[in-house]
Amino acid sequence: GKKAFVAGVADDQGFGWAIAKALAEAGAEISLGVWVPALNIFESNLRRGKFDASRKLSDGSLMEFVKVYPMDAVYDSPEDVPEEVATNKRYAAAGDKGFTVSECAKNVEADFGKIDIIVHSLANGPEVTKPLLETSRKGYLAAISASAYSFVSMVQRFGPIMNPGGAAVSLTYLASEKIIPGYGGGMSSAKAALESDTRVLAFEAGRKYQIRVNTISAGPLGSRAAKAIGF
Ligand code: NAD
Repeated sequence: GKKAFVAGVADDQGFGWAIAKALAEAGAEISLGVWVPALNIFESNLRRGKFDASRKLSDGSLMEFVKVYPMDAVYDSPEDVPEEVATNKRYAAAGDKGFTVSECAKNVEADFGKIDIIVHSLANGPEVTKPLLETSRKGYLAAISASAYSFVSMVQRFGPIMNPGGAAVSLTYLASEKIIPGYGGGMSSAKAALESDTRVLAFEAGRKYQIRVNTISAGPLGSRAAKAIGF
């Protein structure tokens, strides 16, 4: 079976979960990258059976995650992590194997060797509720960092541990090309960047690693992230 790493799952309501499930149905072995601040609650909900109904596969078995990694996709390597984050209770509890993108790739490689599929199902825009006209530089750059560069970083760091013929996929949104009021804080800009980067990465990583790179423009889904902005 194929080996897949799905980044951006913290409950059973979002696209990451649904993609993981479709991959599990197709026989893939799934590991997850879970945002550090959400890791504890995700693991305890998983353990306590809160997701069991949504884990049910068509053959009656429950979807298994072979490994769950702590991850924060706004950091590429340990030297990028600010002191106040490194010493934060939740981040410190993530363990000494690290949560940055390069450490995740290293840990996945140590556990599984080469993998076939990476999924980027994550985004964050601290000022998403503000119109672009009121968005700060800091908020805008944070949206780009978490929602667009994070995919560039993943393809950079996971590309070398992927089998030829593999695939990288992310999720984008229509607000990149058409005005969708309410999708603010530079999130529309971040999705436009993500889409352009996808074309360039497909060209570059296609040649370098023989992998495909795509982004899917998804329709609206009542995930946790979408509800937080009233979509
Ligand atoms: P979701 O809340 O299920 O997923 C977003 C995930 O990103 C969360 O699990 C969160 O913990 C994680 N995350 C945030 N910051 C992170 C970071 N720095 N490092 C690692 N993980 C981080 O919501 P979703 O709507 O399923 O979002 C998944 C993707 O789908 C996003 O890219 C989103 O923009 C996109 N999308 C969503 C919709 C929609 O209507 N819900 C529509 C089109 C595209």
